[in-house]
Amino acid sequence: MLTAMCVPAEPPIVLKAARLFDGKANALVRPGMVVIAEGKILGVGTGAAVPPDAVTYELGDATLLPGFIDAHTHLSMQYTDDWNQGELDTLQKPVSEMTLDAVPNLRVTLLAGFTTVRDVGSEDYMDVGLRNAVRSGKIIGPRMLVCVHAIGATGGHCDTTGFRAGLFGRETDPTDGVINGPDEARRAVRLAVKYGADVIKTCATGGVLSMADAVDSPQLTQEELNALVDEAHALGRKTAAHAHGATGAKRAIRAGIDSIEHGSFLDEEALQMMKARGTRYIPTLMAPWWLGERLEHGAYYPPQIAAKARAAIASLNHTFQRALELGVIIGFGTDAAVYPHGRNAHEFALMTGLGMKPLDALRAATSVDADLLGMASQIGSLEKGKLADVVAVPGDPTNDITATERVLFVMKDGVVYRNDRAPGSAAPATAGTTASAAR
Ligand SMILES: [Zn+2]
Repeated sequence: MLTAMCVPAEPPIVLKAARLFDGKANALVRPGMVVIAEGKILGVGTGAAVPPDAVTYELGDATLLPGFIDAHTHLSMQYTDDWNQGELDTLQKPVSEMTLDAVPNLRVTLLAGFTTVRDVGSEDYMDVGLRNAVRSGKIIGPRMLVCVHAIGATGGHCDTTGFRAGLFGRETDPTDGVINGPDEARRAVRLAVKYGADVIKTCATGGVLSMADAVDSPQLTQEELNALVDEAHALGRKTAAHAHGATGAKRAIRAGIDSIEHGSFLDEEALQMMKARGTRYIPTLMAPWWLGERLEHGAYYPPQIAAKARAAIASLNHTFQRALELGVIIGFGTDAAVYPHGRNAHEFALMTGLGMKPLDALRAATSVDADLLGMASQIGSLEKGKLADVVAVPGDPTNDITATERVLFVMKDGVVYRNDRAPGSAAPATAGTTASAAR
C-alpha cells in the first residue's frame, strides 16, 4: 500500500523486524531496528535512541536491508515479446508518449525494493526528464543516475543500426553519442555532461540486441577509450563500459573504466586485469537468462540476434564463476528492459545459483554498488547519517534468497512507498506477471 506517496514523513519513524542486514557486515543482526528522521538514518540497532514522538512500524518476521541498487537499467525502454512491434513503437511513438510509457517502469522498480538505479542507455533525453520528475516528486521511482547517450562507434552497439542509409536524414554524430576519434569522444562526453549526465556509459564492443555488429568485436580504439574515460573523470563522472568481448573490454580496463557490464566472453587476462585494478564487474545475468527463456518459448528475435544471444548465454555463466573464484569485485545490475521491469531481484537468485554467497549478493546490490556509483557516503548501508533508503523482505534472505523477490516494505529518503504489513494493505503489483503485462 502506498502510505505516504510523495509526502515527506513528518514524525520520526522506528522500523522493527526480526533481523537486519546493514549492507556491509558478515552476518545478520537480530533483532533489527532502524530509527529515521527527516529522510535520514538517526540510529541503527536496538540501542539507538528513539525520539518520544516516533511512529513505530512492526514488520515482524522480516529482514531490514538498505534499499537495493541496480547499476544497469534502461527504464525508458520496454521489453516486448514481439521484436518487430518493439522496433516500430520506437519509430512511431512521440517521445512524450514513450516517456509516459516509462512512468510505470519506475514505479514497479521502486516498489520491488530498488531505491537507486544507474540508467545506462536511453534516447531523446527521456532519462534526464524521468530523473528530474522523480527528484521533484512529480512521479514515484528510484533515485536515478543517468547517462544521456551511451557513447560508441559508428555502426556499433550504441548507434542506431539496421535501417537503410539516409532514412533519418543525417548520419549520427557526437550529439547522438556516436564518435570516431579521441576528440569526438571528448566532445560526446562533454555534451552528455552538458545535458545532464551523472555517469558516462560507453559501448566498447558489439552487443546482443543490435543488428549490424558481431557481439564480441571491439568497437572503440584504445585512444578513443582513453580520451573518453579521461574526460569523464576530469568532469567528475564515473564510467561504465558495455563489453562482451575480451579485446574491447581490455581496452576499456586499460583506459581506467570503472565497471565492465555483461562481460560474456571475458578471458583470463581480462579478469586478472580487473582483479588487479579493482575494476568492477556488473554481470547482468538477468539479460541472458530472460532471452534464453523467451527463445525456448518461441519468442521471435531476428536470426542474427538469436544467434548472438545463444553464444552469450553459453559463455556468461563460466565467466561469472571464474570472476568469483578470482575475487573480482562483482556488483549488481540487471539490464532491466531486456526483461519486464520490476523483476530485478531475480538477479540475486541467479548470482547465488552460480555459487555466490547470499550475503555477497546482498552486498553487491547495496554497499558494492553504492561505492561504484560514487555514493557510498549517502546510500548502500544502514548507518547513522545516511539517506533513509530501507527495504524489508520476509524471513531470512540468507536462507532463501528469493525472499528478495517478495519485498514487503520500501522506504526511500524516509518516505514509505510500500508497507504490506500495514493493516488492510493490499500488496501492490511489483512486476509484470506475464511477458505481455510489461507492454
Ligand atoms: Zn544494457
